Amino acid sequence: MKEIILVKYGEIILKGGNRPKFEKILIQNISDAIKNIATVKITIQQATIYVEVEEEDRIDIVCERLSLIFGIVSVARAAVCEKTVEDIEKVAIEYLKDDLLPGTKFKVEAKRSDKKFPLNSVELAIEVGGFLHEEMDDLIVDVHQPEATVQVEVRDRFAFVYLREKRIKGQGGMPIGTGGKATLLLSGGIDSPVAGHMIAKRGIEIDAVNFFSFPYTSDRAKEKVIELASIIARYTSKINLYIVPFTEIQLAIRDNCPEEHMTLIMRRFMMKISEIVAKNNKSLALITGESAGQVASQTLSALDVTNSVIDMPVLRPLIGMDKTEIIERAHAIDTFQTSILPYEDCCTVFTPKHPTTNPKRAMIEKSEKRLDIDALIEKAVVGVEKIEVYPKM
Ligand code: ATP
Ligand code: MG
Repeated sequence: MKEIILVKYGEIILKGGNRPKFEKILIQNISDAIKNIATVKITIQQATIYVEVEEEDRIDIVCERLSLIFGIVSVARAAVCEKTVEDIEKVAIEYLKDDLLPGTKFKVEAKRSDKKFPLNSVELAIEVGGFLHEEMDDLIVDVHQPEATVQVEVRDRFAFVYLREKRIKGQGGMPIGTGGKATLLLSGGIDSPVAGHMIAKRGIEIDAVNFFSFPYTSDRAKEKVIELASIIARYTSKINLYIVPFTEIQLAIRDNCPEEHMTLIMRRFMMKISEIVAKNNKSLALITGESAGQVASQTLSALDVTNSVIDMPVLRPLIGMDKTEIIERAHAIDTFQTSILPYEDCCTVFTPKHPTTNPKRAMIEKSEKRLDIDALIEKAVVGVEKIEVYPKM
């Protein structure tokens, strides 16, 4: 029996004249994501992408991989049938015999995009349902709360049968590469990886910057950030991670500026340097994991102070989310366990005891004047290390 993977995609169907371009990008992303996993043939027809996998034992791995690609709403492993009622029924019995065990409550749902097929969808569902009920032991028809929903789809050239409950839900969103590029300020914390994933979901390619305070932060902390980038890369493909040496700036702030302004001045440096890295790499926006009111540096007046040093949009997808919601998402995208590893972040090392919560731009600018800002920034930018991070398998 021949099997195939049916991939359904969502929002790009609404894109009118741009749809073919978006479909092409999605197919390219699928092909890139799978090329090292299996040999596949990808075709597209009537808003479904068909993935044929040469190595049968790799079909499940390919399905799992597909379920991480933005733009895809569902992935189903299905049996291929000739477009006759007899073949659909024969294949259904053979393909689903381990799922439709005695006592199973089941129903059949049918869809036909080929309107020339002799039965309409309701008739086909009744026919196949009746057949399975008769031929298999002790099945119970239950259209309201089935344990097993046999899905039959009659399409252009073939018909397909699969169990709806086994279909994998996709990420949704838009294919990466349809929305330009943004640069994620990626710390080792819980929030920024979630923020990156949320923006990437809208089809936006991601670069990442991390501020690193050697020797105050260890190589393990750097490994942790690389690991987080590699988890995000599962959804986006390769991520360019720029590691910025930050120690000298932090020491200069510590030695010259009022302690209660330290965090904000540090964050202003981060924004400015990130903007330079972003512009050097044709990125159109920054992304942070800030959430309103979560800490002193994330009150509205603090955001004004940090935002005012740059001239590019800052995307803050977590701004209205509670920590519990962010943590839920971190679990869902699988970054949480890595984020909570206990290595010091550059900010935890230099945290003031009493940070200002209601800062004014003028007051921070005045404290900052004691530094040679341009020279510090230039030196940090020259020291940037680029790491190409590949998806974690
Ligand atoms: P996170 O969990 O993402 O670390 P947080 O709640 O700890 O966030 P802050 O430490 O105030 O918040 O940082 C706010 C945002 O600034 C982070 O979400 C991240 O985008 C960015 N950021 C903080 N530290 C770094 C760093 N060392 N390198 C790169 N970006 C950073
Ligand atoms: Mg943090």
